Amino acid sequence: MDETRKPGLMERLEHGPVICAEGYLFEFERRGYLQAGAFVPEVVVEHPDLVAGLHREFVHAGSDVVVAFTYYAHREKLRLIGKEGLLETMNRQALEIARDVASETGALLAGNICNTNVFAPDDEARRTVRRIFEEQVGWAVDAGVDFIVGETYAYAEEALIATDVIRATGLPAVVTLAMHQLPVTREGCSPADACKRLEDAGADVVGLNCIRGPRTMLPMVEEIRAAVDGQVAALPVPYRTTEEQPSFQSLRDPDYDRIPGGRPFPTALDPFICNRYEVADFARAADALGVRYLGLCCGAAPHHIRSMAEALGRTPPASRYSADMSKHAYLGSEATLKQNADYAKNL
Ligand SMILES: [Zn+2]
Repeated sequence: MDETRKPGLMERLEHGPVICAEGYLFEFERRGYLQAGAFVPEVVVEHPDLVAGLHREFVHAGSDVVVAFTYYAHREKLRLIGKEGLLETMNRQALEIARDVASETGALLAGNICNTNVFAPDDEARRTVRRIFEEQVGWAVDAGVDFIVGETYAYAEEALIATDVIRATGLPAVVTLAMHQLPVTREGCSPADACKRLEDAGADVVGLNCIRGPRTMLPMVEEIRAAVDGQVAALPVPYRTTEEQPSFQSLRDPDYDRIPGGRPFPTALDPFICNRYEVADFARAADALGVRYLGLCCGAAPHHIRSMAEALGRTPPASRYSADMSKHAYLGSEATLKQNADYAKNL
């Protein structure tokens, strides 16, 4: 065995939490480099430096993993927007960018496959989905990833196909389901039962990602933790979902009703974003349940990830700049407050 090798995912999970920052699609959409609707990561080809930069920001903030930005970079999605020709370039480039940042920072490198949106419970769809996964997983293996994430599956069966394809590589498989408004998968399976099936099929880490915010994901994660033997993952979206509006697509904004399409998802979710303290609360609660693979999905920004890392007892490089309001001119320590008493009164 190579003595200088870095510990792999499963070894790290044995010793404590692993943090995985995601949410690249939303962040680049917000920054003006990716189109909402299409939601295809062309930015990896058009602005590779920016993608590398965001990977670095997330690692700086405490992410232990660099996930190659291949989410939705699959054949069906690209065919839909007439860009199938970019498929391989986009995947290989995303993997190369992520690999460079992972090796310069010592983070784990993850390949990424996701929901295809063409899964249906018939043999033709099953074959198509498997082909899509196999080609993306093949490129990830070529790039030397440490493990592969299969994520955002609303159908347990699609997640099972992903598990099967990833397992065939011999690399660890992190497979997560997306729970929409109903508390069951599209075929009617509870998240706990579906995760048990994924674990039995050989997934190394099972759980949930995306769609639900911390408040409406946590109870499901608790049930999953009780139902499976291995490691559990939880990567909510950092939005204030509620029992009545449990998914970020179902959120409605009573203060602003002139939104295109009538719903805040995906371009007017700003008033619902969790603050860093809510993210920290989630991290502590999930950690207390024994959930080790923790992260955030669409909507996440580096300040959220730093907050998650600090809640888990870490001090990532970005902690150097964590808030210290005692240094604030008007809201700071006794001494500064006294100095600025007249101003402070008016704040
Ligand atoms: Zn997401």
